[in-house]
Formats: sequence, C-alpha cells, structure tokens
Amino acid sequence: MKITPTDIGLAARVVQVSKSFGIGESAVVALSDVSIGIRRGQFTAIMGPSGSGKSTLMHIMAGLDQPTSGEAWLGDTEITDLGDTALTKLRRRRIGFVFQSFNLVPTLTARDNILLPFELDGRTPTDDEQGWITTLCEALGLTARLTHRPHELSGGQQQRVAIARALATRPDLVFADEPTGNLDSRTGREVLGLLADACTRFGQSIAMVTHDPIAASFADRTLILADGRVVHELDRSTPEQIAGFMLAMDRAS
Ligand code: ADP
Ligand code: MG
Repeated sequence: MKITPTDIGLAARVVQVSKSFGIGESAVVALSDVSIGIRRGQFTAIMGPSGSGKSTLMHIMAGLDQPTSGEAWLGDTEITDLGDTALTKLRRRRIGFVFQSFNLVPTLTARDNILLPFELDGRTPTDDEQGWITTLCEALGLTARLTHRPHELSGGQQQRVAIARALATRPDLVFADEPTGNLDSRTGREVLGLLADACTRFGQSIAMVTHDPIAASFADRTLILADGRVVHELDRSTPEQIAGFMLAMDRAS
C-alpha cells in the first residue's frame, strides 16, 4: 500500500484490520475492518464496552499480535510481516508500554525496573535522560521508593513504576491499556496529566485504552469501539460529554 502525505503525520496506523480468534463455529471476531491512525504528538483514547476489541487493537498496533487480515504500520514501517528480531528491536527503540497488570520484574528494584529499557538496549541513560527520569520519578511520587522491589510496593506504586519505565526513554509512541485502572482517582489524574504533558512537551504520541470518561477527557481525541468496529470519533470532550455519549450508545444497542 502507498503512503499518502496524511499518513506521514501518523505514529501508528492499521489499515482494514480484522482479527478472529479460533476457527469454524467457535470463532470469535474481535475486530472487523478497522482503519485508524494514531497522530504524532497527540494523546488518543480508545474507549468501548468490555469485549469490544480495545486490547486486541492495541496489541496489533504494537506488533504484539498479528491481524487475521489487513496491515499494521509503525511510522513508515509495515510491521505486519516483520520477523521477531526486527520487531523486537523496533518496539524497544520506539515504543513504551503500560499494561493493566504492571509487568514489573519482581527481582529488580523500582529504579532497575525503570532503567530496564536502557539495559535491554545495552546502554546507560545520558545526563539529559537521567534528568528526565528524575523529573518523572518526582512527578510520580516514586523518589523515596526507588530501592524497593515490586512486592514492597502498593498496586498504585507499581503502576507508577511501570509508567516511569514506559516514558523513561521518551519513546515516539506509548501504548497504555487501562493505565489508571488500579489507581485511586487523585493518583490517576496525576498520571493522566503526566501522559498529556509528555505529548505537549516531548511530542510523544500516546494511545490509551480506557473505560473511564474522566481519563478519556485528558485525550486530544477519543475513538469509540463497539463489536470490533470503530463507531465514532470525538474531539477533546469533557467527562460529561463522553459519559453522555457512551450512555446514549448503550441505550441505542
Ligand atoms: P476489550 O479489551 O475491549 O475488552 P478484547 O480485545 O480483549 O476486548 O477482546 C475482544 C474479543 O476477542 C472478546 O470477545 C474476547 O473474548 C476475544 N478474545 C480476545 N483475546 C482472545 C484470545 N486470545 N483468544 C480467544 N478470544 C479472545
Ligand atoms: Mg481489554
């Protein structure tokens, strides 16, 4: 497929992506014919009911899963048929992840978990990067916890370590799946503010899956999924507008 000028402004995109799990009568269609782009330097939220395909879409965009048909691109690289080694390298350099289950390494301290992306890339942070990591840890209230291991931290603290790790290398693109799902509302808002800040200050692009209209209100735009399709797109909206829209959609179904 040819890249058009509008695609150049996209950090990631999928083109006519469908995904089924299983075969025959037991097959589940998780995505049907989805085409979307994550714009550079923007904070994009992906909302939709449970089972609507949000996580599947995120996994395909990040190269963690393969579509049944269609294409996935990261920047100007098509990742759909990329081999494991090339894909791993690309992900490591360009993408940060925040999962609902924090995925921290249990034997490493918070600091070493945050520095893991550098370790895996075989380098140490520059002074500039170290300064950013310090800022991140302060904003996330982690400074006094850096020598603790994950089991010595609360769920909220573990998620904040995962967020610091995802943002530490200032990747082009950050994928976050329900990043505030396990946080209290005040910490959640701080984390969302930090994600939004990463977009405006460093031009990072963020794609965040969420259930929460308040979380989505931090985003520049919100894509709404239902039954494996993108059914609507909202520009930046208030929590009330987003909640109202979701409720109306629920009533209409
Ligand atoms: P969401 O994140 O919006 O809750 P998912 O993307 O996790 O939705 O799932 C979409 C649909 O695909 C659901 O019906 C789910 O049960 C199904 N699904 C997701 N992953 C798998 C899998 N690995 N095997 C079988 N079915 C799956
Ligand atoms: Mg999900």
